[in-house]
Amino acid sequence: MYLGVPKEVFPGEARVALTPESAKQLQKLGYDCLVQSGAGAAAGFSDAAYRDAGVELVDTAESLWAKADIIAKVRQPEDQELGYLAKGKTLISFFNPGDNQDGLDKAKASGANVIAMEMVPRISRAQKMDALSSMANIAGYRAVIEAGNNFGRFFTGQITAAGKVPPAKVLVVGAGVAGLAAIGTSTSLGAVTYAFDVRPEVAEQVESMGAEFVYLDFKEEQQDGAASGGYASVSSPEFREAQLAKFRELAPDIDIVITTALIPNRPAPKLWLEDMIKAMKPGSVIVDLAAERGGNAEGTVADEKVVTENGVTIIGYTDFPSRMAAQSSTLYATNIRHMMSDLTPEKNGQVVHDMEDDVIRGATVAFEGEITFPPPPPKVQ
Ligand code: NAD
Repeated sequence: MYLGVPKEVFPGEARVALTPESAKQLQKLGYDCLVQSGAGAAAGFSDAAYRDAGVELVDTAESLWAKADIIAKVRQPEDQELGYLAKGKTLISFFNPGDNQDGLDKAKASGANVIAMEMVPRISRAQKMDALSSMANIAGYRAVIEAGNNFGRFFTGQITAAGKVPPAKVLVVGAGVAGLAAIGTSTSLGAVTYAFDVRPEVAEQVESMGAEFVYLDFKEEQQDGAASGGYASVSSPEFREAQLAKFRELAPDIDIVITTALIPNRPAPKLWLEDMIKAMKPGSVIVDLAAERGGNAEGTVADEKVVTENGVTIIGYTDFPSRMAAQSSTLYATNIRHMMSDLTPEKNGQVVHDMEDDVIRGATVAFEGEITFPPPPPKVQ
């Protein structure tokens, strides 16, 4: 079978779902690989590099989609791409199925099978295919680098002949995948790093990375069951007040805030409020990773950098992984390769779409003319 990778069409998207290295691995699984000419250019993978890896180059998206049996891409398909879906084809891509009824309907009508990468269950067996995590890891790292680029001072403290420099103080709100990556990056740059999460079980992990966990003056049993299945649920009003009071106390002293707080299927909780921003020193930076869902900070504008009247920079970029396209393409292509490996038990270049397999079932949102989203809860944890 042919596995084809088109050039991404979303404006500014620099990632690509296949690298020359992942193509070699896919060939070992028995697939012939196709790539649209120029698809890897923005991520640093030239047509020549693909050709050297045995990949066939195709001139147009239309001919690529027509020839490929399996199409792998990064961004949710655009209208024109949905029009290329057809019975017998399998699309593997981010698909945003919770908010993409039109895409689901078109997939159903076409009879194509669609695997949505964001639906890969967060269970240990599926970690190698978990593209949300691999991309969040990059976003967390890049958020700190972006903060540093906009912060006019060192992260690490220094004693120099020209004077003593205090270390920067960084607060990471939300210690999930992106948050932990941000904490690791911040401590390794030498900043004094604090972190907060509604799930107190992450405190040990935070501390093992050299950061300080921010505890609230609050009884845990009042916390309204903050955690379920590794994800947070909405906090009680009392808990939220205690959290905001703690942030208010910290705001004048913190130089950089990285917010990553996420509750699945809900708008981002507002946690860094206007009065906290006003209390921050001029030159401070907020990087709001939740910008796409409305932002954790008041004043965040998605895809923009704004500077407040009191000189605080708020960054709401939603494309951090794309800003590190070589790295994110490499990890995403590996996620795709692992998915293909699970879909190819005989390593003979033939897809076996096993709907009894929890991971494949969980991620499949359209199958043989039916919408199969949302999936039933997984049988194995
Ligand atoms: P995750 O689920 O692993 O982590 C989110 C964390 O937030 C969890 O640990 C959760 O307990 C915590 N949380 C929830 N409510 C909270 C609250 N009120 N206070 C403190 N912590 C709270 O998610 P993730 O994969 O790390 O993603 C984090 C965010 O980064 C998401 O919003 C995601 O969409 C975003 N993201 C942005 C980009 C970008 O380019 N901007 C790229 C990738 C991911």
